Formats: sequence, structure tokens, C-alpha cells
Amino acid sequence: MKENLPLWKLALNASPDSFGLIPVDFSPSFISSSNTSASDDNSLEDIMPPDWEKYNYTAGNFDSTLLSAYDKLKQLFPGVYVNVNNGKRVNSWCGLRSPACDIGAAQSAHKTGKALDLHHGSKLKELRDFCESTEGLELGIKRVEHRDSTRTWVHIDVMPPNASNWKDKTKPYIFVP
Ligand SMILES: [Zn+2]
Repeated sequence: MKENLPLWKLALNASPDSFGLIPVDFSPSFISSSNTSASDDNSLEDIMPPDWEKYNYTAGNFDSTLLSAYDKLKQLFPGVYVNVNNGKRVNSWCGLRSPACDIGAAQSAHKTGKALDLHHGSKLKELRDFCESTEGLELGIKRVEHRDSTRTWVHIDVMPPNASNWKDKTKPYIFVP
């Protein structure tokens, strides 16, 4: 089941009853038509756990805002990836986490399709700076994990921050797990 479609198209096609995450607020116009270049850029495997076929996961298991943010980041930072780099799976649990996953927090946003751990070979710092900026918030990124605990990746998620902790609401909330 490796459809060569942009994530937003997969999300639109996804079964709405899979996780209760209906992509109603999805705006395909947000996505440039030039993002259909490399096939691995559009691979669902990139954001899925290794056992995703067992659970019949689809793009509908993700928050649609998160997927549209990732699509936009792919345009801005070519080469960004979650699990699959240059066609090879190099990480397992950096996108959606199945019940079989025993790493990370029990209540992790990864388990509900609301988080991604982003990797980039050479532009990780620029990617992180962008995700933490007002532009990142405008993409729908609500929280970024503190860089001290995520040195080789950038954790972004769409969980609403605790309002009292979130001092600067023009930027995503930087959280320490
Ligand atoms: Zn993470």
C-alpha cells in the first residue's frame, strides 16, 4: 500500500472513521503543486511504525494539520524525513507509534498521530529554528521539544500547550519532557 501521492491527498482519501480525525480543515491550496517530485517524499512509510499494515493505519490516523505542516516543511527543507531517508527506513518510531512501541512517554503525542520527529542531514538547525518561529506556529506546529533533549532530531506536535506555561503565544511552546 505505497501510494505515490502527497500526504494531503492521502489524508483526503483516508477513511474518516479510522481515528476520528477527519481532515475537514485541510486546505490543499496551502500545498504547492510542485511538491510531487521525489517519490520517497510522499511515502506513507516515512511516518508510519514498522507494523503499520498489521494495524491498518492510514493517513487518517494522523492529525491533518500535522500532515499539512510536514508537507510544507518538505518544500522548505528538501531532504527532511521522519523514518525513511533516501528510500531506506532508518528509524522506526519517529512518526506514529503503535501499541507495540515501548519507547517514549506513555501519553506521547506520537501515539495519537499528533507528533513527528524530523531529521535532516545538513539543515537540522535551520529546520529547528523555523519550527520554533512564528512561521512554524502559522503552519500549525503548537509545540517543539527542547533542543537539549532532541539533539539529532526536531520533535514537533500539534498538542495545545498549557496556557499558563505558554508565555510567547506568537511562537510554538518549547517543552521539556
Ligand atoms: Zn518525538
